[in-house]
Amino acid sequence: MGFLSNTVLSEQAEQITHPLVRRLFLRARGSSPAGTPQRVVPLVVVAKIASRCNLNCAYCYMYNQGDLSYRSQPKFMSETVQQSLFDRVKGYCLRNQLSEVTIVLHGGESLLAGPSRIVSLAHRAREHLLPAVRPRLLLQTNGTLLSEEWLEFFSRLGIGFSISLDGPPTVNDRNRLDHLGKSSYGRVEAALRLVLNSRHASLLTSVNALIQPTTDPIALYEHFRNLKVPVVDLLWPEATHDRPPLPSVAGPGETPFADWLICVFDAWFEDMAPSVDLRLFTNLVKMVFGGHGSTTNMHHAGYIGDPYAFVAVCEADGGLEPLDVLKVCGPEFTKLGLSVHNDEIDALNTEMQRAGALGGQLCGACRKCSLRPVCAGGGLSHRYSAINGFDNPSVYCRDLTKLINHVRARILSSVPSGLRLELERDYDSSRLTSQKTAEEQFSDARSHFPALELTEG
Ligand code: SF4
Ligand code: SF4
Repeated sequence: MGFLSNTVLSEQAEQITHPLVRRLFLRARGSSPAGTPQRVVPLVVVAKIASRCNLNCAYCYMYNQGDLSYRSQPKFMSETVQQSLFDRVKGYCLRNQLSEVTIVLHGGESLLAGPSRIVSLAHRAREHLLPAVRPRLLLQTNGTLLSEEWLEFFSRLGIGFSISLDGPPTVNDRNRLDHLGKSSYGRVEAALRLVLNSRHASLLTSVNALIQPTTDPIALYEHFRNLKVPVVDLLWPEATHDRPPLPSVAGPGETPFADWLICVFDAWFEDMAPSVDLRLFTNLVKMVFGGHGSTTNMHHAGYIGDPYAFVAVCEADGGLEPLDVLKVCGPEFTKLGLSVHNDEIDALNTEMQRAGALGGQLCGACRKCSLRPVCAGGGLSHRYSAINGFDNPSVYCRDLTKLINHVRARILSSVPSGLRLELERDYDSSRLTSQKTAEEQFSDARSHFPALELTEG
């Protein structure tokens, strides 16, 4: 399926009566030649400007999943580390013909770094990188410290930000408590309302919420809809084949994550023109139409269908590391002995390729899988096992299969027959037209990786 002229595109779109599907069809088909991979891989730099946090979330991969390396980090990133980091970023971008870079200010809790550090970092980034490379600055926060003053800062510095909130109080406070065991919900909800009612609301790029199958999916959806949050990123819990997700709720053959997500998807889809963009689903629908998922948010990098961003993490002490969620693969797993003081970012790329984590090196089952163009093997950490490294399908393979097939079926049933036939023809055996059931798909993956038997009970 090729890039469509504006006239053909409009004619096809007019025949789609479902407003949400029509909007996503236009976004998928109107922006770039469908099915064409991006020529250059964007760089996302995660700068750990603060290594500690004022919350103590039970699932946090920084503090509570076995990696204790944060204890040896300085509390904040120094100016010397920032200088070296931006030198490396500029060098990498020039060598790889990148005219822009996304820099995510991250923690721990990034706002603990305080306004003066963040202001000087933003100025330093621009001084070092412009005019050859345009830095796009984003910040991730838990929201508890956000204030009117911070919003003014972000506005002046052009920093977009995302906030973490897992849903209504009973859901959020299952895990997201402070060091005294107290709720974080009230503070974060107040911060969100402050943002959404301010003239700086457009700086909020998304709210991040964990997928929790033991909670009420509709309550979560309605919560964000009532708060009038514009974009929500639903995040898969970090897990590996050695540390499978929620073994207590997944019985033999069960797909708790897919079932939960399908409930949310159906509510969103049946809203017809939902006010909230659930980006996991937006990406899925766009990919069903042959487009690409968004690389605009770091949480998508390496997740469903979006292997097209290279993520480099700079720790507070200057350590150069891969995607920080890989900390769940084992203590010190991300410690490669690299530093922005001594090494180029390319060294990280090489190390990760050597580890089989980059370069499209999916396992045999994923390479043969008809869902690969959408799923891309799932999240990187979710493919890991101590035995095989990253040479496995996702630990969420069964859930991914069921979810993708469900979304695809609903989209196909909502488009006119001509377009449906075209989509079915295009997604032939090498793509999505495989009529394999979730069970058949899972069995393909299992034949490659017998340990999946364990999650089947
Ligand atoms: S707010 Fe983020 S960094 Fe802090 S404990 Fe929670 S998950 Fe970890
Ligand atoms: S085998 Fe599973 S994890 Fe791999 S691409 Fe297919 S659905 Fe995704």
